[in-house]
Amino acid sequence: MKGAMTLTSLPTEPITMSAPDISDRERELVRQVLDSGTLSGGHFTAQFERQMCRLLDVGHAVAVSSGTAGLHSAVIAAGLRESDEVITTPFSFVASANCVLFERAVPVFADIDPETLNIDPARIEACITPRTRGIIVVHVFGQPCDMDAVNEIARRRGLFVIEDACEALGAEYKGRPVGSLGDAAVFAFYANKQITTGEGGVVVSNRGDIAAQVASLRNQGRDPGDSWLRHVRLGFNYRLSELHAAIGVAQLERLETLLANRARVAAGYTQRLSGVDGLELPRAASTTTRMSWFVYVVRLSPRVDRDHVILSLQERGVPARAYFPPIHLQPYFRESGHSEGTLPITEREAARTLALPFHGRMTDGQLDYVCAQLQDVLERSRMS
Ligand SMILES: *Cc1c(COP(=O)(O)O)cnc(C)c1O
Repeated sequence: MKGAMTLTSLPTEPITMSAPDISDRERELVRQVLDSGTLSGGHFTAQFERQMCRLLDVGHAVAVSSGTAGLHSAVIAAGLRESDEVITTPFSFVASANCVLFERAVPVFADIDPETLNIDPARIEACITPRTRGIIVVHVFGQPCDMDAVNEIARRRGLFVIEDACEALGAEYKGRPVGSLGDAAVFAFYANKQITTGEGGVVVSNRGDIAAQVASLRNQGRDPGDSWLRHVRLGFNYRLSELHAAIGVAQLERLETLLANRARVAAGYTQRLSGVDGLELPRAASTTTRMSWFVYVVRLSPRVDRDHVILSLQERGVPARAYFPPIHLQPYFRESGHSEGTLPITEREAARTLALPFHGRMTDGQLDYVCAQLQDVLERSRMS
């Protein structure tokens, strides 16, 4: 194609909400697995776990089949039992609350900080009851929670802290990597995350007791040295295959490049969209020494009709999503008695968030196009 792209011409590559970044290195390592004959429980899984420990400066890493599997095994290993309560955020992907429900325990939602969209530590204490066992924080959209404040409450009240870091690999809080800041942390490797294994996750911890239990839970409740048909506890098959682990090894080797590409795209959005009327852009909190860009979520002025914006963008070839609908307003939470009005900050902010297409391989042309379309849609909606 010749000539400068006009703002109304669709870039040649279709624009997607997210896209994995796979290189020849991933292909090469997957081929090695296929040629090796060891498709599960081999050296790629062990290598992936060692890489994770080194990256995060933690003592233990246990690779699992998904972030959800990781959260489920982590809450069990941290001591969650039926009817216990866990304080967590309503502004997240559902898995961070579901892992509590899996154990017939009760997620109790604390409202969020409107700046960071993360759980507001100042609202945690009021949620504590004699049945409270722990806190699950979520570093939402790659922005670390205020962990010092959360940990101070947890220490004083004897609660476990699990970091759902599924959206935050590479993020740093006051110079320390997320994933090393609680009793255990979970990362996820679905195709839209900072690194992917297709499906996959990892539980990391400095507590040997938690890591050992997670390792047993992922492997049908076997303990180290147990024969294949001896099961010490109720467990699951939450293992990660060698094929997935090999992709993870290659992705972790490329992590700095992958994160830098995402930061470049985020900066490209911020540069193009700052000053646009009716938009608030994501910002790093003062405690965030490194943001890890998972998505690029803007907030619309409350006067703007978000559904209309999403539909108009879609007509112009730009996908966009309302991330996240509050967990407590999902149909099955409403059935158990949750309703509107109980978590006003979450409800207000969730009603105006808009996730734009975001991945590390987005081109300047695609960014130009998305931002021009968004600006145009907003201008038109102001006139109507
Ligand atoms: C992606 C994600 C998960 C779960 O990951 P899966 O690998 O899809 O099971 C959990 N919590 C949060 C906040 C996530 O974004």
